[in-house]
Amino acid sequence: MQRSPEEKVLLLMSALAFICISPFIFIRLASADWQIAIVDSVISIVMLCFFGYVYIKREVNKVRLAMSLSFIAAILIDILFKGPDLIYWLYPAIIVLYYLNSQKRALFISTSSIFTLAMLLVYKEGSEEITTIIVTAVVTNLFSFIIFNSYHKINQKLLGLASTDELTLTLNRRALNGNLLALVSEQSRLESPVCLLLLDIDNFKNINDKYGHIIGDETLVAVAQEMLNQTRSYELLYRYGGEEFLIAPFKQDLASAKNFAERLCTVIEQHTFPSDIKLTISIGIAQYHQGDTVEQWINRADSALYKAKTTGRNKVCVNDVKNNE
Ligand code: GH3
Ligand code: MG
Ligand code: MG
Repeated sequence: MQRSPEEKVLLLMSALAFICISPFIFIRLASADWQIAIVDSVISIVMLCFFGYVYIKREVNKVRLAMSLSFIAAILIDILFKGPDLIYWLYPAIIVLYYLNSQKRALFISTSSIFTLAMLLVYKEGSEEITTIIVTAVVTNLFSFIIFNSYHKINQKLLGLASTDELTLTLNRRALNGNLLALVSEQSRLESPVCLLLLDIDNFKNINDKYGHIIGDETLVAVAQEMLNQTRSYELLYRYGGEEFLIAPFKQDLASAKNFAERLCTVIEQHTFPSDIKLTISIGIAQYHQGDTVEQWINRADSALYKAKTTGRNKVCVNDVKNNE
């Protein structure tokens, strides 16, 4: 499965950190600088471990914080041993800190690091540039906060736009692809049942023909809203196609999913939509089977939906056949 952008960034950062820091071990050893050689060795090994962990486990959240703290700790320890000569590493570390962590957490770690650094430098004395160092570190901290604050906000907005259906404001097909891939990979490690529901409005073409496209659009929005009202927050609703929707994950077995779907059919059938429109929906359900690909899983729900359509509409059909056999 494709790696997420976060995984790629962490793999790249840990590899680069290893490549940049490890040669310094030999430079320090050559100049008999034992303490710094040990710190560089430890941080190089830690970076290799992060690389291996993300590569194998594909987990990024714990590594973000651990990696940020390792960088900062290594710099502070170096400064403790060597004085402010190695201060230049602090500036890229602050930027990385803001990139990898939430604003609040980055601000907290960065500010406490600068405070600790100020204490260390005052304690070590000898540096005539303490004020410049502290002021430039504080300015880097502030600028990083301001820049990454707008970066995170814009990112959130773009992510929202890229994953939302313009008309119904449900999640769109792009979001579905990513989320179902993640769900399938998670499910292959879990035993608990999970179902996917494919929903299609019956004879929707007639509504467009009778009331026109604008009312048709309003009806689609209202149907999506009614479906949303019936789902729990983690049962995500996607617009799968024109008047087709998809609900996943439904974290129960086929029998419970069928009960829920039948209730949903009744709610929609009994609801009066704007312009006094009455309509029904058909639903196909498939439970995830170990080894299913996303396509196989959706195809099985699709064939159940086809069965519901060809056997009368306004009904629910389930598909419990393994891998489309
Ligand atoms: P069935 O019960 O077999 O699903 O019949 P149907 O008429 O719903 O299915 P069909 O696939 O033949 O037609 C789907 C219709 O949905 C055709 C298309 O005009 C309409 N539709 C798809 N997307 C939109 C949309 O965004 N807005 C509006 N107003 N109509 C849409
Ligand atoms: Mg339809
Ligand atoms: Mg359709």
